[in-house]
Amino acid sequence: MTFSLHGLAVAPGVVIGRAVLVASSRVDVAHYFIEPSQVEGEIERVRRARNAVMDEIHRLQQTIDQLGPKEAPHELRALLDVHLMLLEDEELVAGVKQWISGRLYNAEWALTSQLEVVARQFDEMEDEYLRERKADLEQITEKILRAMRQQSDALAEAAGARPAPLIGREHGDEPQEPLVLVAHELSPSDLLHFKQGVFAGFVTDVGGKTSHTAIVARSMDIPAVVGARQSSQLINQDDWVIIDGDAGVVIVDPSPIILAEYRFKQRQNELDRGRLERLRDTRAVTLDGQAVDLLANIELPEDAPAALQAGAVGVGLFRTEFLFMGRPAGHLPDEEEQYQAYRMAIQGMQGRPVTIRTVDVGADKPMSGHQDGSHLNPALGLRAIRWSLSEPAMFVTQLRAILRAASHGPVYMLIPMLAHLGEIRQTVALVEQVRASLAREGVPHGQVLLGAMIEIPAAALMLKTFLKYFDFLSLGTNDLIQYTLAIDRADQAVAHLYDPLHPAVLRLVADTIAECRAQGKSVSVCGEMAGDISMTRLLLGLGLRSFSMHPAQILAVKQEILRADTGELSGWAQNVLAHEEPALIMSQQE
Ligand code: PEP
Ligand code: MG
Repeated sequence: MTFSLHGLAVAPGVVIGRAVLVASSRVDVAHYFIEPSQVEGEIERVRRARNAVMDEIHRLQQTIDQLGPKEAPHELRALLDVHLMLLEDEELVAGVKQWISGRLYNAEWALTSQLEVVARQFDEMEDEYLRERKADLEQITEKILRAMRQQSDALAEAAGARPAPLIGREHGDEPQEPLVLVAHELSPSDLLHFKQGVFAGFVTDVGGKTSHTAIVARSMDIPAVVGARQSSQLINQDDWVIIDGDAGVVIVDPSPIILAEYRFKQRQNELDRGRLERLRDTRAVTLDGQAVDLLANIELPEDAPAALQAGAVGVGLFRTEFLFMGRPAGHLPDEEEQYQAYRMAIQGMQGRPVTIRTVDVGADKPMSGHQDGSHLNPALGLRAIRWSLSEPAMFVTQLRAILRAASHGPVYMLIPMLAHLGEIRQTVALVEQVRASLAREGVPHGQVLLGAMIEIPAAALMLKTFLKYFDFLSLGTNDLIQYTLAIDRADQAVAHLYDPLHPAVLRLVADTIAECRAQGKSVSVCGEMAGDISMTRLLLGLGLRSFSMHPAQILAVKQEILRADTGELSGWAQNVLAHEEPALIMSQQE
C-alpha cells in the first residue's frame, strides 16, 4: 500500500530505489556487491561463522553442565538454548542466502539485512516474552559478525591481503536497481563510509537542515530527506521507495501512476543538469560585468576532482575535521598523515587556492562518530578553536602540517568559531611560533594568508578587531544563524525557526560584507546560504563577490549570477535589509 512520509529536504533530486535498512550501530559493517561467482563463497563464510558460534555455545553448555546450579544458574542454560534455536532458524539462514544470491550482497550486509527483517517480525509479536527475544537475535548476529571478522582477519593475515572494503563497488557488479539507505540516525562520520558507496539516496528519522549529516549528504550529491520521524520503522527492508529531495517527501511502495510521475521528474532533472553543464567553463560574471568567485566546500582531499569538474576557481572551505572523525580513541592523524592529505587537496586543485580550515570537531561532529551526551548543549561547548586551543599539541601538529603543505600551492588558513580577543591573539601567536620553528628546523613550508570564520554574533559585532588581525574573513552562516537565533541546527524540532532571512541574521551578514569591502579585505560566505540559489541575488546585492559551496551547487548559482545585475540589486537589497519581514520582499521580487 502506498504511503508517504514527510521530512526536511536536505539534498535535491529524485531517486527511486529499494530500501536498505541499516541500524545506526551497524553502519560500519561492510556493504559491497560481490561477483556472481563469489555467491557460494559468501554463503560458505556465513555458514562457517554460524557453525563457529554454535560450537562455542555447545562448549559453553558442556561447561555449565559440569558446574552446579549455584555457579551456573538455570537462566544461563535457557539463554544458550534460545541462542542455539535462533541460530538454527531456517528463516534466518534462507533469508541470508537470498540476499547473497538474489542481490549479490556481501555476507555481512546480507546478515544484517535479514536481521532487520526478522527483528521487525519480533516487534510485531503479541507475546511479550517472544518480543523480547529480539535482543537475543541481535546478540547472535553480533556474534556471527564477530566470527566472520575473525575468520577474514585470519585469512587476510595468512595471505598478506588487505581487508575487504567497508563500502564500495570494486568487488562486483553494479546493483540491478538503485539502493536507498534508511536509518534512524546517521552521524557525519557514518556518512563518510558511504561517500564512495553504493547508495543513491538516503532518509533518516532525525536531523536538521544544516546539520553536518545534511551537509555531507549535499556534498555527496544524492537526494536525501532527514527528520522523516518514523521512517526507519515504517519502511521495510527492500521496499520500493521514492525519495524526493526537493520536496522532503518519501513515498513508500508507490503506485504505477506515482512512479510514472517521478520518472518524468527524474528525466527533467537530468535535462536541467545537462543544460547547466554547458556553463562549466563560462566565467561567473554578472550582466554589469562584476566578476564573482565560485569556490568549493570539500570534506576530503578526494573531493578536489569534483570541485574542478564543477568549475570551482578554488576551495573556499576544506573541513579538515573529517580527517579526525570516526577513528579509535587516541588515534588522531599525525603530522605526516595530515600533511599528505592537505598536499593532495592542494595538488588536486592544480594551482587554484585552497582554504584549509583548522579542525572543527564538537557539537554534531563528535570525533567518535556519536555524541556522548555528556554535554547538555554541545553546540555551546568545547568546539572548533576552543578545542584546538585546549589541545595545543594537537593544534601545533595541524598547523605544522598545513604550513608544510602550503609549499605546494596557494593556501589560505581559516580559523573557526573565534569570538574572543584572547583566542585571536593566542591563535595568531601560535601560527607565528610554528612558522618560526619550521624555519629554524629548515623544514620546507609556505606562506599562508590567515582568515577567521565569522559564525558567532559576537564576532560579527567586533569586525574591526577581526580585520586588524586577519587577512580575510569567511561567513559561516550555518552557525551564525544557529547562534543568532538560538536554534540548534541539528534539531528538527526547531528546524522551522531556522531562518536565513531573519532580519538580525541579514544585518550581521550585510555588515560583515560591507566592513570588509570598506577595508579592502576579501570576504566570502561558506555556509549553506552560498549554495542556495534563492539567496544568490540578495548576497550579490549586499556586495558579496565570493561564494563557497558544494561542487554540485556551483553551476546553478553561476546561472543566477549570469542573469543578475548588481547595479539593480544593491538598492533592492537595502530595502530587503530594512524591512521587518525580508521574506515578503524577497517573494515579491520573484
Ligand atoms: C558554517 O557554520 O556556516 C560553516 C561553514 O561551518 P560548519 O558548517 O562546518 O560549521
Ligand atoms: Mg560553522
